[in-house]
Formats: sequence, C-alpha cells, structure tokens
Amino acid sequence: MTTIINRHLHNFNGGPSILPAEVFEEASHAVIDFNNSGLSILEIGHRTALFQAVMDEAKETARLLMNLDDDHEVLFLHGGATTQFMQVPMNILNDNETADYTDTGVWANKAIKEAKLFGGVNIICSSKESNYNFLPKNFTINRGSKYIHLTTNNTIYGTQWHNLNLFYQGGIPIVADMSSDFLSREMDFNRFDIIYAGAQKNAGAAGVNILVINKNILRKVNRQIPSILDYRNHIEAGSLLNTPPVFAVYVAMLTLRWLKNKGGLPVIEKENTEKAGLFYQTLDSYPVFKGNVAPEDRSKMNACFSIQDVSLEKEFMELCKKEGMIGIKGHRLAGGFRVSMYNALPLESVRAITELMKDFGIQKG
Ligand SMILES: *Cc1c(COP(=O)(O)O)cnc(C)c1O
Repeated sequence: MTTIINRHLHNFNGGPSILPAEVFEEASHAVIDFNNSGLSILEIGHRTALFQAVMDEAKETARLLMNLDDDHEVLFLHGGATTQFMQVPMNILNDNETADYTDTGVWANKAIKEAKLFGGVNIICSSKESNYNFLPKNFTINRGSKYIHLTTNNTIYGTQWHNLNLFYQGGIPIVADMSSDFLSREMDFNRFDIIYAGAQKNAGAAGVNILVINKNILRKVNRQIPSILDYRNHIEAGSLLNTPPVFAVYVAMLTLRWLKNKGGLPVIEKENTEKAGLFYQTLDSYPVFKGNVAPEDRSKMNACFSIQDVSLEKEFMELCKKEGMIGIKGHRLAGGFRVSMYNALPLESVRAITELMKDFGIQKG
C-alpha cells in the first residue's frame, strides 16, 4: 500500500468533509483490489460473503461505539438525511397525532415541513427571529406528543445542544438529526428512539445514512408505507433490502473502524474539545473577529464567525487561501466564515488557522 497521504491542505469543509487519511488510503486500495480478492469493491455483489463482512463490521462497530442495547437496530440506508425528514414521520406518526419539533435552523425547518405531511406538528421553540444564533431552551415538551425532534448540531449556524437532558426529561420518544455531530462525543445513545445522520459530515462518504432505531417505536402507524421506506423491512433485511450504496457503506465502515481503533468516543470527544477550545479561545482574543452565536451554544464541529469590519473579509479569505485552507466560507444563509472541525480534522489544522488569525488579529487590532 502507498504511504499515508501528506497533503498541504487544511480541509475545513462543512460537508462532504475531511475523513481520516487512513480511510482515503484503504478505500483507494479497495477500488483496485478489495481484500486481496482480485476484485474491486465497486464490482462485488452486495449479497456476497465479501460484502456481508463489510456490513457486519460496520454495524457491529457502530453498536460498540454507541454502546447500544438490544432494542436498538443500526441501519445503513440511501437517501441522505433529507429523506429521513419524511421517512421518520411516515413510519411513526399517525395522521391524528402530533409531534414536537425544535426549530433551530434550516435543516430543522425542512424536517418540520415534511412532518406536516403526515401529522400534526408543534413547534415548541424557535430562534428563527434572530437568524438561529442561539438555542432556545425555554420550552415545554408536550406529554401527549408522539415524539420530540431535535437537530443536535446546526451545521449552517454553528450551534450545538450541549445539555441533552433537556430532551431526556420530556418523557416521550426522542428523534434526532445528528448529521453533523454524529459520533463526535459521548452521550446515552439508548435514550434516543431514532437517530439519523448523513454520513458525509462526520462518518463517511456521501451516499449513505446511518440510522439507529428503537424497534419498539415501530408497528404503531395505521398507514400503508411503501416497502422501500418502511424501516421494518430494512431491519428484517439487515440493510440489504435492495442494493445498498456498497462503496459508501464500506467507507463508513472504515471510518467507524478508525474511530474504534483510536479509542472510541471518549478519545474523540477529548480531541474535539481541545480543537474547539483552541479555536474559540483564539477567536475571542482578537476583537477584529466576532463569533456569530451565543457562546454557551457554540458548536465544537462548526465554528461560525465574522470579521467586525466586513471590508476586511476578502483579505482574510485570501490569506487563508494562500495558506492552503479550504472551505472556510460561511454558508450563504449565515454569511461570514465557518470553520468545520469534524472528527478527522487534525489539531494541526486548527493550529494553522489560529496562527493565521492571531497574526491577522494583531495586525488589524
Ligand atoms: C447536511 C445536513 C443535512 C442534509 O443532509 P443530506 O444528506 O444532504 O440530505 C441534514 N441535517 C443536517 C444537520 C445536516 O448537517
């Protein structure tokens, strides 16, 4: 195999985003010859022992990392997180029932829009009026609701729920879109009834969703569900109801394996905390910069900030570009800059951008 890729680029992309160098390497090798089979991963049958081993390891590693109990199933499905916006309510919300939703950004909003196609929606809190620059924590979960839905990390705005107890105390099932902070920190995953995450932010390549489903929440809706959208069929078929996204599942498996070999979630959480700590500490040290969101809600995955004097934005962007920094332009809905620090981003990349911010901050201070 070739040596570890040594790129002189710092990839702060919001998604698809950086993956571990080992994963890129192993995946590229598998495209040529998968596990010394003489076949490319792209040409093996999904019902072969070769691929079954990939699916089994992906599932087992995910279960292990999250410490899941027997009620919870792990699925690898097509369609991206956006498909889950409708697939969740289709599978668990009856027409005459309501679900609670937290409105903390564009993705949450899209989930709300889709849920309304299947049942009632209570929006129990929203920070829309302030362009989602904080997390609205003053809410009451309706005891009569079928479930409460949250977005654990708001990728575009840079907010993240740090106190999940707010949701655990609701006494109703919890559904979470974890696309952009999945497996970035420890939490009690068994407290959730459905977790979904598009793999391309923190857990693999685009093309696959990772889901965790508490089986007990299924079999309770009256409507007919198209076969391919029915979670029960996917559970029964072990994520092999139809041809799965073979390569994307493989890359997710490699990424999960990398995480496990590193020491799992306690280790990655510590690293993520260190990276985010360094970043925000630098951000707060130079008045030329300004964080976009309430400090207590700052995301450890996506740091969103601006430059006080917007006329300096271009200069800062050019500086970053010159130093090989990729993907720091803020989302068009949030403006400014966004530095994404997903699991695979090395500390040295955060060091590099904070050094640059320091120089810029002193110069413009
Ligand atoms: C990126 C993202 C999505 C959309 O994912 P797709 O895979 O493109 O459908 C949904 N929710 C969150 C929180 C995201 O970050």
